[in-house]
Amino acid sequence: MLTEEILCKQFGISKTVYNYVINIEKEIKKNFEKIDRVREYNQYKVIKAMQEHRLDFTNFYWNTGYGYDDTGREKVEKIFASVFNTEDALVRPSIASGTHALYLTLSGILQHGDEVISISGRPYDTMLTVLGEQGNEPGNLKEAGIVYKEVPLYNNDIDWESAIKEITLKTKLLMIQRSTGYSFRPALTIEKIRNAIEKIREVYPNIYIMVDNCYGEFINEYEPSDVGADLVVGSLIKNPGGGIALSGGYVAGKKVLIDRIANRLTAPGVGKEVGLTFGTTRNTLQGLFFAPHVVSEALKGALLFGGVYNSLGFEITPTLDEERSDTIQAIKFNNEDMVIKICEAIQAASPVDSHVSPIPWEMPGYTNKVIMAAGAFVSGSSIELSADAPIREPYTVYIQGGLFYDHVKLGVMLSLEKMMDFEEIKNKL
Ligand SMILES: *Cc1c(COP(=O)(O)O)cnc(C)c1O
Repeated sequence: MLTEEILCKQFGISKTVYNYVINIEKEIKKNFEKIDRVREYNQYKVIKAMQEHRLDFTNFYWNTGYGYDDTGREKVEKIFASVFNTEDALVRPSIASGTHALYLTLSGILQHGDEVISISGRPYDTMLTVLGEQGNEPGNLKEAGIVYKEVPLYNNDIDWESAIKEITLKTKLLMIQRSTGYSFRPALTIEKIRNAIEKIREVYPNIYIMVDNCYGEFINEYEPSDVGADLVVGSLIKNPGGGIALSGGYVAGKKVLIDRIANRLTAPGVGKEVGLTFGTTRNTLQGLFFAPHVVSEALKGALLFGGVYNSLGFEITPTLDEERSDTIQAIKFNNEDMVIKICEAIQAASPVDSHVSPIPWEMPGYTNKVIMAAGAFVSGSSIELSADAPIREPYTVYIQGGLFYDHVKLGVMLSLEKMMDFEEIKNKL
């Protein structure tokens, strides 16, 4: 058993931990079948989109200056539009992050006096700063005269009845966050998103609906844009970049909306026609090609992480048999020291920066100190195995990504090995 030998002798995993994890792995494997089915479908969907738009090697060349006639850029955007089943898309290396893509979308569509309603409760930390709900950053949406409202989730589902009541003549956009973010709830499934959109559209057929699709891409055969969302928004250093994209963000959706957002990104009248890609198109598209497979690996890894710590008595979300709609596995430790240990182990399992130790830190846009473990080839990439935890009650660790299941498995074993320092864990093994 060479594998057991390298894990135990070279990575210092004890036989107890090794056997424990292998046993849990046997139990969770029954859930792999569905993940593989979705992966296969999405892989073909991506290949088809590339063929349909006649992707060729010259699309990987790049120009200088304004980036007029950048065929690669145009192909990337057409391929994303096909994959997300939308009229158009904006996919750029100049979109610096997911937060930037979301801000760009909101500021492109909303005007002074317009209302935006989050119908999936409190949004992601950085979005609160963007909306002007937290802090007072110049350029936030409140400052621009945009009114923000929120409808909390009800039973982990969109409360569409309350959402309908909140809509006024001024409401232009509804936003839905698919992923958990830093809350402790399962991500909103495509079925829940579909149902809410249908119910709201019966009353308000023309209201715009945007989905923050971060961490959700390729987890289901359908994307939110397949079930009625006008816009889907995300980051290329999460799922759709497959660990290969170097940076960037995307917005896919209705053409009239993409045109407005593009005018916001560049300038009115200039829109999508300019913007140099700096040679990024090959990585962006190769990343998209990798993405369905990579997402399936991350999901299997999330199951293993969840399975191991759940069996040790910790509360996890999503649970093992719950339908997944993002790549995140949240584990509630109720103990700051354990959170730090888990993050240290993830760091130690990394191919890059395995020798450094993460520490809690103040991060721009976040309210509490956050500890982040990541040893990634692409800095900040959270489709690569990473863990982060805001240092606050109830001390939940959010584990995400993993380009390869084997890597996540190493992370699980190393973390459990470190957790043996706690008597209450050791006694359970
Ligand atoms: C990651 C994330 C964002 C922001 O993305 P960044 O690239 O980190 O700016 C927004 N919403 C959700 C749900 C996310 O997971």
